[in-house]
Amino acid sequence: MRCQKCKGTASVEVRRHHAAFCNDHFVEFFDRQVERAIEGEGMFTREDRVLVVVSGGKDSLALWDVLLRLGYRTSGLYINLGIGEYSQASQRKAEAYATGRAADLLIADIPLEFGMGVEAFARATGRASCSACGLSKRYLFNKVALDRGFAVVATGHNLDDEAAVLLGNVLHWQTEYLARQAPVLPSTHPALVKKVKPLYRIAEREAAAYAIIRGIDYIVEECPNSVGAKSLLYKEALNLLEQAAPGTKQSLYWGFLDRGRALVGALDDHELRGCRYCGQATTAEVCAFCRMTERAAERMRVRRAAAERPASDAADAGPEAGQHAVSGRSAASTR
Ligand code: AMP
Ligand code: ZN
Ligand code: ZN
Repeated sequence: MRCQKCKGTASVEVRRHHAAFCNDHFVEFFDRQVERAIEGEGMFTREDRVLVVVSGGKDSLALWDVLLRLGYRTSGLYINLGIGEYSQASQRKAEAYATGRAADLLIADIPLEFGMGVEAFARATGRASCSACGLSKRYLFNKVALDRGFAVVATGHNLDDEAAVLLGNVLHWQTEYLARQAPVLPSTHPALVKKVKPLYRIAEREAAAYAIIRGIDYIVEECPNSVGAKSLLYKEALNLLEQAAPGTKQSLYWGFLDRGRALVGALDDHELRGCRYCGQATTAEVCAFCRMTERAAERMRVRRAAAERPASDAADAGPEAGQHAVSGRSAASTR
């Protein structure tokens, strides 16, 4: 296989573009795709301060790397979600990357700030772990960007991520989600920071190839809570189709952006206002994050009070009364 640019030995094949590249020309291809996304969709300019939210995985670290190389003004943000060793290992990868590139990395620590991790939020409120985690991430991305004056939040979502979400939304005809699925989510409220996905033109395997070529050390493991997640099933299904017909993912997602989105766009008519407690944009009086954390804190207060009661009372309060309630994996839900 030869590089289509220099005829040297190719190291990466991009079948959906009928192309193959050597390392250097693959990086050039990658840069061009990201620039086309940023400029074509009006994501940000070289003057804007961009908050790149990094999970320690290949996509978001590749994104940060390409933006730094292309001369954009970026800071990274890592959120410790409190998912045991997985969160600690991910944080080490993000920190090592930032140190190696002398890049500015902010850290938000959910267990430190809120007294428990996202799994405990989930248990306390009856949400699925991934739902509590997604809600917490979105909230903190926005809060940190807002508090520190960033113009925009950039995530590492790639073509495979977006195509899989789209497939899920279509399979269940989630028209509200379809209306909001886009590479750019504009700020529609003073407390809502613009969100962008500069890797939406990049396939997952291309992000991995870029990270390897650029010597980025990233966390390979998936989040332990994602085992059995529907999104992984949809990705597998799309990979099967892609193998037989290269370009399927691109045609599905880019076709949606070009032609499908206009058909559902009008459905997104939510009116936003400031949360009574935190001021962040919400459709309700109190935002979902404040409701979740308040409920979790209430649970913790109840458990603490039960634990502090004399032994005979505690026995009446149920099997969990003596446990330490803060974010322990052992604290099962009593719903
Ligand atoms: P996920 O929802 O885990 O697929 O992640 C989607 C994007 O969210 C990633 O590409 C990152 O940009 C960002 N992200 C995920 N987890 C974190 C985290 N713990 N801290 C900061 N950003 C994250
Ligand atoms: Zn070449
Ligand atoms: Zn709130």
